[in-house]
Amino acid sequence: MQKEINISVSPKQAADEKQLSRIVASQLRLDEDRVRGIIIRRRSVDARKRDIRINLGILAFIDEEPKPLKPAEKIYPDVSKAAPVIIVGAGPAGLFAALRLVELGMKPVILERGKSVSERKRDIATIHRDQQIEPDSNYGFGEGGAGTFSDGKLYTRSKKRGDVNRILEILHFHGAQDDILIDAHPHIGTNVLPRVVTAMRKTILEAGGEVHFHSRVTDIISQNGKASGVKLKSGQTLSGKAVILATGHSARDVYQMLHDKHLTLEGKPFAMGVRVEHPQELIDSIQYHGRSRGELLPAATYSFAEQVEQRGVYSFCMCPGGMIVPAATAPGELVVNGMSPSGRGGVFANSGIVVEIRLEDIPKNYKRFEQLAGLHFQSDLEQKCFRQANRSQLAPAQRLDDFVKGRLSYDLPETSYRPGIQLSPMHEWLPEHIREKLQKGFIQIGRKANGFLTNNAVIMGVESRTSSPVRIPRDKISLEHIQMPRLFPCGEGAGYAGGIVSSAIDGERCAEAVVRICSASSGV
Ligand code: FAD
Repeated sequence: MQKEINISVSPKQAADEKQLSRIVASQLRLDEDRVRGIIIRRRSVDARKRDIRINLGILAFIDEEPKPLKPAEKIYPDVSKAAPVIIVGAGPAGLFAALRLVELGMKPVILERGKSVSERKRDIATIHRDQQIEPDSNYGFGEGGAGTFSDGKLYTRSKKRGDVNRILEILHFHGAQDDILIDAHPHIGTNVLPRVVTAMRKTILEAGGEVHFHSRVTDIISQNGKASGVKLKSGQTLSGKAVILATGHSARDVYQMLHDKHLTLEGKPFAMGVRVEHPQELIDSIQYHGRSRGELLPAATYSFAEQVEQRGVYSFCMCPGGMIVPAATAPGELVVNGMSPSGRGGVFANSGIVVEIRLEDIPKNYKRFEQLAGLHFQSDLEQKCFRQANRSQLAPAQRLDDFVKGRLSYDLPETSYRPGIQLSPMHEWLPEHIREKLQKGFIQIGRKANGFLTNNAVIMGVESRTSSPVRIPRDKISLEHIQMPRLFPCGEGAGYAGGIVSSAIDGERCAEAVVRICSASSGV
């Protein structure tokens, strides 16, 4: 017999399978030897009280030998002779759209402006070493998209557990750790993500799909008003039954191209701010009530959401035990973000702390850019940030408490940001809307998390790529662009997702919509 049971145990008990088995037996009021084995199916840390607990969902095998859970099977049929569908972008949205198309019997043709993940690694190293940004191959562009060199957090606000589990299972099938199927807050880590992405590409190719790198799409081709293909920077054109546009929120040239073609776009609220870095020990001590985490607890995380003068000020993409990275996608701009390895064993904790920017918060002089006003505001701030620190990938930085009090820092602490940081009076040059609300937001956070607001922490700028400042509107049901049938705006860049999992879910939805529409009109 098998029985599911939820238990709450100490970190020490959670690490000892024999003890767990005894606890399970006692809770089920059984003799210990009747519980022949257990499998942990859910795990979360509850650090709200001093007595930190690990909550576990356990499958117990009673009077029968334990059977290891079989990973979900995935079958990807041969689609080499099926109708082609163009997918622009090999981020989570594009890759998951491709795999879903294969499952449903259509042939994905992925066009990616960047390089394969292994080649991309070299360009990432160049950014750190020479402070040079390669425009088509960086932290935002290339195989795997923006999330390849990241913490690989796989949490999402999506309430559709089934959809989320499907994405986790596909990542697991392609080599992600077993833990992602168990943890309440799963993450993959930057050391594992590249091989998962490579395995996904292998699946697509083995099924007969195509993946083309160094293939920047510069135009959408249409026939009778319907999207029918794309043009590449090289001049080559490719056609397909439909075009899934999954180019992410950093492809400013794509928004501009759509704008120039008079395809409807909408400005949308987004957020910008700074990245803050503390010693991980300090965050552990705040979150674990003054104690160090020791061997048994994970590097502590945090999540804050404050309201300051009717605007959200919140933490974004917190990376425990991680490092801050230079995430610009073009020379002449400076953008910071964060990543961590799977073990999250680094000595720093970083997170974006960002301020909500509604359309009415964008300075009036950007009105001339119409729907792209937010995008230009974002881009100008990144360039301003670049100019503040030596016109390189050195990041302008200030100690946290000094920033909040509006005073200069005289020196800076150690940081994980490899290109280096440079003293800068960030309270003087950040736009007023952002500066003011950040200062107040940090004070509010400091009241809740005693010790957070400290000069042992450093902020650096700018954290500007939190979400897309533009939406590419699509029909709610067909998911086609409202003016151009067969064009499927998809993922974060289209404004319908924010993060790896939600982009992946949106990729799958778009693939399903393509198959629905293509089969309804002509048969696939
Ligand atoms: P993207 O991932 O941006 O992919 C778009 C792809 O399209 C890119 O590969 C790009 O090269 C390609 N492309 C763009 N224009 C063209 C063109 N014209 N022609 C051809 N190809 C083109 N999210 C999380 O959920 N968890 C995290 O831990 C996390 N950490 C992050 C850390 C960093 C450093 C960064 C930068 C992002 C992080 N994110 C994280 C955000 C996450 O990566 C994105 O939400 C997600 O990747 C969006 O997926 P997407 O497929 O919509 O777009």
